[in-house]
Amino acid sequence: MKQIIPFAHQLFIDTLQQGDVVVDATLGNGHDSLMLSQLVGENGHVYSFDIQQEAIDQSQQMFNDHHVKQITPILRGHEHVYEELNKRSVNEVDGAIFNLGFLPGSDQSITTNANTTIEAIEGILKLLKPERYIVIVIYPGHETGEIEKNELLEYLATKPAKEVDIAKYQMVNRSPKAPFVVALYKK
Ligand code: SAM
Repeated sequence: MKQIIPFAHQLFIDTLQQGDVVVDATLGNGHDSLMLSQLVGENGHVYSFDIQQEAIDQSQQMFNDHHVKQITPILRGHEHVYEELNKRSVNEVDGAIFNLGFLPGSDQSITTNANTTIEAIEGILKLLKPERYIVIVIYPGHETGEIEKNELLEYLATKPAKEVDIAKYQMVNRSPKAPFVVALYKK
């Protein structure tokens, strides 16, 4: 059975093709962006957001080491995703990932929060092609993560089922504080 992160990645393996354009809404250490860059290939593109210079610098170094050029790190909050992609003449995307929470091994007070996450989801939904995913990995194990989870699930429950299917992938025999996936599939 697939664990949480491999399950999140599998949804992109199932739907992305070479040449596609995708968003990594939370660049962090760059692992999700690197995985996405391999799926979209040299003719595709990954736009990766983070609010920390440290995340941008470390990830860029890793991308250089892997000779990957199809990732553009953007030092700005993902709540500005629509504006930033518009600026780059990107009007459609084929997928997006959020890995919420804080940068591992860094300042734990710099973390995602429901308000900006929701703004980003709304922006990406406007750009997302039909039959494509927004995949969100949620971490309720810390206090702000628990608050973000509750607000996010409350908001997602209001999304019309005729526009988007929203499913949760969670291990039921683990702590309820363990990370889990929510996937939005645009109809
Ligand atoms: N995807 C990453 C990886 O593969 O290593 C892990 C992401 S880490 C759990 C969460 C990241 O979200 C942190 O680096 C943090 O700085 C960033 N973040 C927090 N608020 C943000 C926002 N409004 N917009 C973009 N990134 C944000």
